[in-house]
This record gives sequence, C-alpha cells and structure tokens, in this order.
Amino acid sequence: MSAPRVALSAVVRRWEDADRATVNAAYVHSVANAGGIPLILSQIMGPGLAARALDGCDALLLSGGEDVDPAHYGAPPSPALRSPDPARDAFELALFRTARERGLPVLGICRGIQLINVALGGTLWQDLPSERPGPVYHDSPVARTARTHEVRLAPGSRAARALGAQTLIPNSFHHQGIRDLAPGLVATGWAADGLIEVAESADGDAWLLAVQWHPEEMHAEPGSPEQGLFRALVQEAKRYSLSASRSARERRSTTSPERSSAGK
Ligand code: MN
Repeated sequence: MSAPRVALSAVVRRWEDADRATVNAAYVHSVANAGGIPLILSQIMGPGLAARALDGCDALLLSGGEDVDPAHYGAPPSPALRSPDPARDAFELALFRTARERGLPVLGICRGIQLINVALGGTLWQDLPSERPGPVYHDSPVARTARTHEVRLAPGSRAARALGAQTLIPNSFHHQGIRDLAPGLVATGWAADGLIEVAESADGDAWLLAVQWHPEEMHAEPGSPEQGLFRALVQEAKRYSLSASRSARERRSTTSPERSSAGK
C-alpha cells in the first residue's frame, strides 16, 4: 500500500533575525526512513484549524520542545519552568484531541509524552533536579545521540515490542517528567530512579505510545532499536489508513442514491 501520512507538530524558533516554523530534521528522517510521509503542521494556523489539518493524515507525532504551561494541570509555575509557548500548547492539545477522537495512532516524544499526559488529566514534575532530585541525571549535557541512562520496559508492552528489547539505554535530555500518570495511560518504562519514561494506551485502545527520551536522534545509527518505534507508528498508520478508507467506502455505499432508491 502507499506510504501513510504522519502529521508532525512543529515549533517556532527565531534565528538569523527571523521567526522560523520548523522542526528538527531528525523527526523527519525517522518518519521517512520508516516509510511514512512526514507532514509538518505549524501552530501558526491556530487550534481552530487543527482538526482540518489532520484530515487525510494517518498518524500524529508530537515532538519535543518547550515546557507545557502548568496552568493546564492546575499548578502554579515553578521558578525553574522554562519558556512555555501558549500557542503551541493550544495547537497541540487540539491536534491530540482530534487524533484521539478519530482513533489515529499517536507517538509522543519528550514534550510529547508530557503534553499527552496533561491532555488526559495527568500532572508533571516542572523541574526534576529541584523537585525530584535523584541518582539519575536526565538532562545530560552531552551529544544528542549519547546513550546515558537505562530504561526498563514492561515485558509484552507496545514499547517492548516496538523496540524489540526489555531494557534500553537511550539518550536523555529533559528536565520535566510525568508526576501523576493520567487515567487511560499505562506506564511501561521506567528509569532506575522510578521516573516514568514510557506511557502507552491499553491493549484494545487506539494505538498510543510516548517516550521521555529522543529516539528520533538515533535515525542514523544503523539498526538502532529506536527506529522500531517509528516503524511501529508507520505500521499502525497504514492500518488506520486502510480501515479509514474502508469505512469511507462503506459510508459512501450506504448513502449512495442508487442504494437508497433501490429500496423504494
Ligand atoms: Mn530520562
């Protein structure tokens, strides 16, 4: 079948004296390498167009970036909160809500796992070093592809199947994390300090998988297990695309004039 379309949430960044609507190319490489068509969606269109923007898309990837505004989970801002972007929050919350309504497969990465948790009613640590100090350093000032701390995966979970592993040492650069897990999410990966590093939907629910690290950065490492996450997303997107086109055909055939007049 044809390559499925994967919507990819972008960021707005300023450099060389201009605002750019952009996303790290690593996300684009990862989706393309897995056989998907990456479609970059910008918050600049506003949350009112998020649902329309997802028409024709077969999956949603929520990317990394700014801290989610703690107002979305009813907490006052910590002094260590970093640069929330209200426009990005609003746009991605609208994308996610629409994706769940449609049963689109969703992959969340770093900020993505945090946004998903908040959207479903969970809360966040706003700054791990000051609020939840521990032996694991999650925000490593090293190369983006450096593998830094272990994550233990729940056997048989969507994550373990996609990664083909029970444990993994991924890269890690985040200062926030899941505090209270949202209802409807299942934790399936943990750092050695107990921090949730993976959350996913229950079996039988629409496919959703979210990780706290940055698997996209490993796109150029031959055979890296992280590429399995993107292959799983694209596989689910193909499945969604097939079922969506089947139900569209069925809708057309049950509402066509031929069919309705035939009964008269
Ligand atoms: Mn971590």
